[in-house]
Amino acid sequence: MSEAQVVTRFAPSPTGYLHIGGARTALFNWLYARGRGGKFLLRIEDTDRARSTPEATAAILKGLTWLGLDWDGDAVSQFERAGRHAQVALEMLTTGHAYKCFATQDEIAAFREEAKAAGKSTLYRSPWRDAAPESHPDAPYVVRLKAPREGATVIKDQVQGDVTWKNDQLDDMVLLRSDGTPTYMLAVVVDDHDMGVTHVIRGDDHLANAARQMQIYAAMGWSLPVYAHIPLIHGPDGKKLSKRHGALGVEEYQAMGYPAAAVRNYLARLGWSHGDDEFFNDEQAKEWFGFDGIGKSPARFDFKKLENLSG
Ligand code: GLU
Repeated sequence: MSEAQVVTRFAPSPTGYLHIGGARTALFNWLYARGRGGKFLLRIEDTDRARSTPEATAAILKGLTWLGLDWDGDAVSQFERAGRHAQVALEMLTTGHAYKCFATQDEIAAFREEAKAAGKSTLYRSPWRDAAPESHPDAPYVVRLKAPREGATVIKDQVQGDVTWKNDQLDDMVLLRSDGTPTYMLAVVVDDHDMGVTHVIRGDDHLANAARQMQIYAAMGWSLPVYAHIPLIHGPDGKKLSKRHGALGVEEYQAMGYPAAAVRNYLARLGWSHGDDEFFNDEQAKEWFGFDGIGKSPARFDFKKLENLSG
């Protein structure tokens, strides 16, 4: 029996240029898929209309193209799939895995204040979770996941190992807002499922999201992707990467005349290693790339290394 085809994706939010953290995530996904005869997909997470811009989308596509990270099929717009996201939330309402919550923002704030004053957890616990439909008012509501409160959600992460979240530490996340628009958490899961994504490789700032996303997979009875959360990139001083550490936008490397192949080699080595090999070509990288070579601590970004690679 042959193994299912590997499908990875890069799912940037188009709120700015393609920065090196994003480019590295894209590269890892591309290498993983291309080295296994799989597919590499691109999804533009433009659900947040206030922060997404067409200029940012164009910059991301341009940056990926310059880097040579070709994707299969057309880039998917997450915003355009909002109808499908809502459909899944409604399905969860029907199956009892979600419920309508009529609580107002004021009520939620009051709940939190009271809990805080009483020294209790401030995770919101909606009184509507078990309310009978007959008691529902004719008022705006959000759709929340009826998340399990017992037991634990364990992320079997290929880089981080098993990461356990106690279910009583997670609230009933909102799936659909009162205006009927989907939340990011719902959209990601529905899209990954529908696009047939088998491996989710992304920054470890999404690790907590993975636990919540797994609850949606479970509610829908969908099979989980393999997760690999990569440590973020830090500057040479060990602090979070910022402008003062040097060029952050892929187009800046291009403008400075670095060859795309050198930048790819450099990005590949931010958090991944293969023995003592400093230099490798694309074919070697595709063949060698795997989760074993990804370190658990943050990668260090050092501009000088790129200069050596290009020199
Ligand atoms: N859109 C998210 C971001 O730009 C990535 C979501 C994901 O990879 O699941 O950080």
